[in-house]
Amino acid sequence: MTALRWGSATDTGLVRRNNQDHLLAAETLFAVADGMGGHAGGEVASRVAVEALRSEFESRPRTSDALLDSVREANRAVYARSQQDTELRGMGTTLTAAAPVVDDGEDRIAIANVGDSRAYVFSQGDLTQLTEDHSVAEELVRRGEIEPEDVDHHPQRHILTRAMGIMPEVEVDLWEVLPYSGDRILLCSDGLVREVTDDQIAAVLRRLADPDEAAQELVARARSAGGSDNITVVIVDVVDDDDAALRASEALRGEARIESAGAPPEGAEGGDGGGATFRAPLAKRRRVTFRVILFLVLVAAILAGGAFALVTYARDSYYVTLGPPAVATDPHSRPLLVYKGRPGGLLWFHPTLAVRTIVIESEVLPVHWADLDKGVVVSSLSGARSYVDNLIQEAARAGQRVPAATTTTTR
Ligand code: MN
Repeated sequence: MTALRWGSATDTGLVRRNNQDHLLAAETLFAVADGMGGHAGGEVASRVAVEALRSEFESRPRTSDALLDSVREANRAVYARSQQDTELRGMGTTLTAAAPVVDDGEDRIAIANVGDSRAYVFSQGDLTQLTEDHSVAEELVRRGEIEPEDVDHHPQRHILTRAMGIMPEVEVDLWEVLPYSGDRILLCSDGLVREVTDDQIAAVLRRLADPDEAAQELVARARSAGGSDNITVVIVDVVDDDDAALRASEALRGEARIESAGAPPEGAEGGDGGGATFRAPLAKRRRVTFRVILFLVLVAAILAGGAFALVTYARDSYYVTLGPPAVATDPHSRPLLVYKGRPGGLLWFHPTLAVRTIVIESEVLPVHWADLDKGVVVSSLSGARSYVDNLIQEAARAGQRVPAATTTTTR
């Protein structure tokens, strides 16, 4: 079981009159929410989101999907609240949450995000931003329309493209991290990253091992850099990962030995310290289990539908073509035949003769001969009859002979 240690801090900052951020730091669930809307709305939205998240997640198994569902429920709770009270209408909040979970029998940390609060992973001395900001400016960067360095000055950098409580349903990003002893997860509102660079954050995380001290230091840095917004920080440290790091490093050591043919790389024999050098990379993947399943079901449905359509296409159509000459000396004595299937067949479906007409090639206008030779596709047997009848009537209008009866059925 993953053991955690955590610390947190929040502050109104130097410019705002109240703190609309809200945080949760408990053993099984961590969250940061940054509310917005009206004088009261922002505070209510972030509080409702965090409280609903907590009560929803408490009643579920500790899995990534449960965290995802709990965030969705929290969204509905904020939305419902905004609909009840006209003063709160239009309020919303960000929500970034982390929870230790067990998925596929393995300890993981699930991280869910909506909005522009962030989750970072600090591992091996390096700070990596895990979440994507759902802001207009960041979306423009992802689409390649502006450069990353232009985000801080973009007029729409604080306009969110996604937030909790605005709509009855919300799209939630979900990430999973394999917890390794020594890793730190940082959750923060934008009040921190507006004022403190990632490098400065990393320096504090390297220097201060105590998560409470580190959180307070980060908030203090943001205040001294201007404190233009509310600042909230939650730090979660992995202190015992059930020897996952050790096992991963030993597995990799084994691989390293094989690859280097008996020449283990430096540090491979170095116990825990050496193990860290060969540690498995941080797992980082977006989980879309439900959507993947839905997608596969749709693909299967499309394939099944396609196969059905193909069989229907191959078998339930007809075409009119010409058989071998009825009179050996007259090349235009070829009878018009109606086949079920496609000209030339399709896959393993070979055409079968449906109707042998008594009409021969010379009885239809020569303009149709080439088409008939290739096969004229019609939708049904009655369509084939009409087509042949039309050919005869057209020839009659043009002065050619009309047979007494046009078609006879052979089977
Ligand atoms: Mn903010």
